[in-house]
Amino acid sequence: MTAPPVSASFPWPQGRRAAVAVTFDLDAESVMLAIDPAYAERPSLMSHQRYGPVTGVPRLLEVLAERGVRATFFVPGASAERHPAAVEAIVAAGHEIGHHGYEHESLLGRSREEELDILRRGLDALERIGGVRPRGYRAPWWELGTHTLELLAELGFAYDSSLFERDVPYRIPTAHGELIEVPVSWTFDDWERYAFWPEITGSGTIARPSEVLESWWEEIEALAEVGGCAVLTMHPFLSGRPARARALGVLLDRLRERGDLWIATCGEIAEHAAGVPTAP
Ligand code: ZN
Repeated sequence: MTAPPVSASFPWPQGRRAAVAVTFDLDAESVMLAIDPAYAERPSLMSHQRYGPVTGVPRLLEVLAERGVRATFFVPGASAERHPAAVEAIVAAGHEIGHHGYEHESLLGRSREEELDILRRGLDALERIGGVRPRGYRAPWWELGTHTLELLAELGFAYDSSLFERDVPYRIPTAHGELIEVPVSWTFDDWERYAFWPEITGSGTIARPSEVLESWWEEIEALAEVGGCAVLTMHPFLSGRPARARALGVLLDRLRERGDLWIATCGEIAEHAAGVPTAP
């Protein structure tokens, strides 16, 4: 007798075999300014980042709307303040907004007070501009600080999406209650495939969108065999370019045609996982 796959028993809704979350991090200028505030004095670099909210978001919202797919956009508070129209359009289209720091700050080495201040500033910006109180959080660079999970629970967040250790959502106990983790993988990050700026990021080898599509399809097919959860993580300044957005559309068409995948927001996946008594 063959042993069942590790996660085959995770009960996805409606008997679906696996889940796929389509997520975007609206980093825009913030991710560069977090590395060095002096980058504000580099108009071309800032413009490269602004492609996301200015051009990428409208295009990606069309790709999603054409397929009836709802996504999760993790937004740094400062990005929301710089690009309120993009955030308003995302909210108006019915997508989920998650917290992604204030200025995409690294949390490494931060005190509890510093982390709390960053979380509060991000919450304030998203509530003021998007009219939403996010239920989910994703750490900048997927690097939680030592206080983050406990603070998230204290502030009433339902889930985090910055950890890696499982194929399916799981529970994280903290001193202030339980969070759900919707785990991620660098495999599904478009940054490694598409990003390039001389001396700042990327190797200069920019992947063909059709190759990225096939790679992600292969990964999702294998994850589906073990009943897992694929969390696609894209950035509008990267995946919002025409051929890349088109490839995402083709991938979403294929995923929908399979018929056995639950394409849902991170919030929906976390809510479902929280109601699964046997969730590991
Ligand atoms: Zn980010």
